[in-house]
Amino acid sequence: MPTDPTTVPRCKAPRRWPDEPAQGGWYTDAEDAAMREVMDDSLSWRTGWRGTERITSFEDAFAAKADSRYAIAFNGGGPALEMVLHCLGLQPGDEVISCGLNFVGTHLPVLHQGGTLVLAEPDPLTLNLDPVDVEPRFTTRTRAILVTHWNGLVADLRPFLRLAACHPHPRHGPPVVIVDAARACGGTTPAGHPVGAEGWATVFSFETKKLMTTHGQGGMVTTQDDALASQLRRLRTYGLSRHWGTNQQLNKAQAAVGAVQLSRLDEMNAARVARGHQRTRLLEDVPYLTLPPTLTGGQHLYYRHNLLVPESWAGAGRDALMETLAERYGLGSIINDPPTYTSHDYIHARTHGQACPRAEQLAARLLCPCLHPLISDAEEQEICDAIREAAEQVARAFGTV
Ligand SMILES: *Cc1c(COP(=O)(O)O)cnc(C)c1O
Repeated sequence: MPTDPTTVPRCKAPRRWPDEPAQGGWYTDAEDAAMREVMDDSLSWRTGWRGTERITSFEDAFAAKADSRYAIAFNGGGPALEMVLHCLGLQPGDEVISCGLNFVGTHLPVLHQGGTLVLAEPDPLTLNLDPVDVEPRFTTRTRAILVTHWNGLVADLRPFLRLAACHPHPRHGPPVVIVDAARACGGTTPAGHPVGAEGWATVFSFETKKLMTTHGQGGMVTTQDDALASQLRRLRTYGLSRHWGTNQQLNKAQAAVGAVQLSRLDEMNAARVARGHQRTRLLEDVPYLTLPPTLTGGQHLYYRHNLLVPESWAGAGRDALMETLAERYGLGSIINDPPTYTSHDYIHARTHGQACPRAEQLAARLLCPCLHPLISDAEEQEICDAIREAAEQVARAFGTV
């Protein structure tokens, strides 16, 4: 029977190292104990899973760590960002500037809340939104700049805050800075503040791949703004009897393990950063690869360890490298992520022919091989040997520059 090539799985043998490793493989006895305790006090029909104290105490601990007045827990990062954008009350034609190289879940809520998505280029070194490219995109309709801390590298928000102040909206004043910190929980900004302290609102995710997880799904918003905090609390709980709202609450079992994960976050991040730095050292002399910047002090958490292949390998050569790593060495990697407007039909259809050539070029050179804090030293050495050997093989086919 003929086989449709699009349905042939790329990897026949199970991978030794998955494309996308998940946090949650790193729960300890403390998470286990917290979960059991919640189970015990929820199995009475008189109380069930009701009870907000655990959620409030998780929020308080999170706010303290993020140096933020408020933290509001949600059942996911996506719903949290959707509600933050809802609070802006975007009118048709209102614009939100964001990096073209992004996760689709960052751009979908902008469009769903009625905003016009204005795409801008990434900085070639950090792959974070480039302030130089943002400046000419301001108009009198700009309401927000949506900045993502890309793959764990914490962006400097000060240039965006300065630019926003210089381009006030005629009715709403300076555009707000909304931060997507789904991949940078526990990081420190170049201004020396914890991620979550600066800007109008910062959104976090506790999905299973993220730096900490609440049973695989969950989210949080931090803000210093009283009005925004109360509006978000209403929205996630059916409007608290007066306004429109929906149900997007985190449950108490998630909050209980979240509190434990939060107390372990610095330790878990430190292990990941050490692994990221080690990988960079081990790959330093591979001539074909551009490695991520080595940053300390929480300014890069290496949610992904981005590798860029030479321009002459863009597309096919990069694909060949990923394929070789998977097939021959069992090492999974992903393109995290391609530009949203080329990879998602809904976004493509609503960005009216906008393009970010630099984002597209960088995405064609990008691969993120599996990195996880629980990979051992010996395995890390094997992974780096695999990357080095596979790159040599691809160089024979695609050239060395
Ligand atoms: C994971 C992620 C989100 C969405 O978070 P969920 O909790 O999965 O809904 C948003 N933005 C970025 C950059 C992410 O990585």
